[in-house]
Amino acid sequence: MRRACGREHGRCGARVGAAGYRCGVPEEPSPKPEVEVRRSARRTRTVTAFREGGRTVVAIPARFTRAQEREWVDRMVTRLAEGDRRRTPSDDGLLRRAGELSRDYLGGNAVARRVVWSSRQGRRWGSCTPAEGSIRISTRLRGMPGWVLDYVLLHELVHLLHGPHDATFWALLDGYPHTTRARGFLEGVGHAVDHAVPPAGELEAGAGGGLEADGLDADVD
Ligand SMILES: [Zn+2]
Repeated sequence: MRRACGREHGRCGARVGAAGYRCGVPEEPSPKPEVEVRRSARRTRTVTAFREGGRTVVAIPARFTRAQEREWVDRMVTRLAEGDRRRTPSDDGLLRRAGELSRDYLGGNAVARRVVWSSRQGRRWGSCTPAEGSIRISTRLRGMPGWVLDYVLLHELVHLLHGPHDATFWALLDGYPHTTRARGFLEGVGHAVDHAVPPAGELEAGAGGGLEADGLDADVD
C-alpha cells in the first residue's frame, strides 16, 4: 500500500493537479527522447524545431526526401540540445543553486546531495528521494524562467524535509516570493499540454510561429 507522497517509502509520490505541480517517484530510464516529424505543404524553405509537451517536433517541407528528413532532424535536434546547454545550468549548477535556495529560504535545513536533470520524469516537474538526498528535475523545465526552476528546486528541497503537500509543506515554501506565480506558470503549461492547444507548427503560417518560444528556425537552402 502506498499513500500519496508515501511516508513509508520516504518518497514524494503525489500528483497535485490543482497546484499545477506534479512530482513523484523516479522512473526507470528509457532510451531516447521522442521526436515527431511534421511535414507541411505550406512550408517550402524553412525547417523549424521546438519542444511541445515533452517531445521535440521538427517541422519540415512536405517535399523533403527521407534522406533530407534524416539530415535535418539530426541537425535541428543537435541545435536544440546546444541551445538547452547554453540556456540552462549543468547538473553541478543545479546542485549549487539548490544549496543557495536552501540557504536563502529554508535556513540551510534541506541538504541535497545530488541534483540532476532527468528526461524521464513523465508529466512531473521534479521528484526526490529523501533517504538519498537526491532530486531530479524534469528537462521540460529547460528554457523556462529562472524563478520557475527555482520554485521546482525549492519544492523538491522542501520534500527532503517534509513529505505530504499539506499546510506544513506550503508554510515551508512561504518565504519564496514567486511561489504563487510559478505554480500558475506551471499550471498554464500543464493546461496547454492537456488541452492540446493547436500545434505550433500548424499555427506558424498565420501566426508567425508565435508559440515557438523554445524553438529555432533554419533556412533549408
Ligand atoms: Zn511535491
